[in-house]
Amino acid sequence: MRALTHALEQQRLHHAYLFTGTRGVGKTTLARILAKALNCETGITATPCGVCSACTEIDSGRFVDLIEIDAATNTGIDNMRELQDNAVYAPTRGRFKVFVIDEVHMLSKQAFNSMLKTFEEPPEHIKFILATTDPQKIPVTVLSRCLQFNLKQMPREAIYGHLGYILKEENTASEPAALRLIAQAAQGSMRDALSLLDQAIAYAGGKVSEEAVRAMLGAIDQDYLFKLLDGLAQQDIKAMLAVADEMESRSLSFDGALQDLATLLHQIALAQSAPEALGPDLPERERILGLAQQFDAEELQLYYQIALFARRDLPLAPDEYAGFSMSLMRMLAFRPAELPVVAAPPPAKKKPEARSAVGAAEVPALTPAKRAAVAGAAASSASSPVFDGNWPVLANRLKVSGVAKQLAQQSELRSFDGESVELGLAFTAKHLADRIYQDKLRAALQEHFGKPVALKIVIGEISGNTAAVQAQSERQARQGKALEAINGDAFVRDLMETFDATIVNDSVKPT
Ligand SMILES: [Zn+2]
Repeated sequence: MRALTHALEQQRLHHAYLFTGTRGVGKTTLARILAKALNCETGITATPCGVCSACTEIDSGRFVDLIEIDAATNTGIDNMRELQDNAVYAPTRGRFKVFVIDEVHMLSKQAFNSMLKTFEEPPEHIKFILATTDPQKIPVTVLSRCLQFNLKQMPREAIYGHLGYILKEENTASEPAALRLIAQAAQGSMRDALSLLDQAIAYAGGKVSEEAVRAMLGAIDQDYLFKLLDGLAQQDIKAMLAVADEMESRSLSFDGALQDLATLLHQIALAQSAPEALGPDLPERERILGLAQQFDAEELQLYYQIALFARRDLPLAPDEYAGFSMSLMRMLAFRPAELPVVAAPPPAKKKPEARSAVGAAEVPALTPAKRAAVAGAAASSASSPVFDGNWPVLANRLKVSGVAKQLAQQSELRSFDGESVELGLAFTAKHLADRIYQDKLRAALQEHFGKPVALKIVIGEISGNTAAVQAQSERQARQGKALEAINGDAFVRDLMETFDATIVNDSVKPT
């Protein structure tokens, strides 16, 4: 951003700026700041005052000379014509008329051509700010006329730090591990992180604890994963499958489990080669360091890869449980000594034939029996699954994460006719219905059903038949059972009668 600051300070202005970067990195936020920098009443400046009428109107979206166009919904040439017509006139209030075109790569070819005319001979009073997640789809003729800035994702550490700062300012208590989980789920997007933090504060109803955030995110209790890896270290497949069974009976997401398992394996590998890179407040730090002693580096590489492959192949498995348990058996079946570590596969392509080919190439040294066992996981049919109308179960299983997962879990099914899904979402959760999260959810539905599915979100009253509400009541039921068990325990009863003691209900945790 230094280049941009310098250019503004020296009044070297371009006609068009292009901001690229993944979703949620702050492209449109930066576009607004630039619009202020160009129109601030204190003059063209790298540090807009933020208090003049131009600055405040831009902040509140009321500035007449800032025209924001979302190309995702206005792809056509007509919108561009309108823009061109509008561009002829001088700004009404500001120094410049600023056009911000978000997701500009979605414009049609015609629209791009039409835009080029304005680009080639831009009137002095016009500035374009283009933003895109996909610069490769922008014609070179447009690219070449833009000053381009690539915005990087926020490092997890920076997100973690900022969340801590916000909570401190708001005097809300939190556990570091809880904030780490949020920072991880946000995947480099500060906007997602803030949205999840809001959600977590509401969900926890007080201190933002690791337990609450875990439950909210549907994150797998790390304990399962540690038990799996303990079993792996002992070469004890029975123990590992018992863990998988328990996860199944709790209907935990195996997709999420594989993702978390890969994250954990990465941390263990990190603990081996650079222990100082593990944050001091990383949850379960000691157990990670312990496991780092039990595997060698090659094994970890292999297990990591098996977890990644398994996640990729999960939609092809007969069911998620089969896919998951097969991957555990794979980890046991292959030792690095028998198997050279293969290079990471190219990002998943939608070609089932190619997938099984990769599967076969991975395992050159296998006996036919072993090979058949492995192929079983990948060779299942990919017929599109039937939806029985149980949205909470589907919501938990869809391959989405972060805020989009919240959207799935907090919403309830209004209707489904095979082509389109209509979901209800409570007014209090309406911030989850942002377009980008809807897009992610729609993509996950499409992947799940193997065909495009229309998605409509209706904000209003809901009856509460959501995955989130179910998870909450299951937790309460388990808590109730644990309490019952402890109250029914003869020893505890004696203790209570003898000492006139009561049980602190919150201290009882279901196992
Ligand atoms: Zn100003």
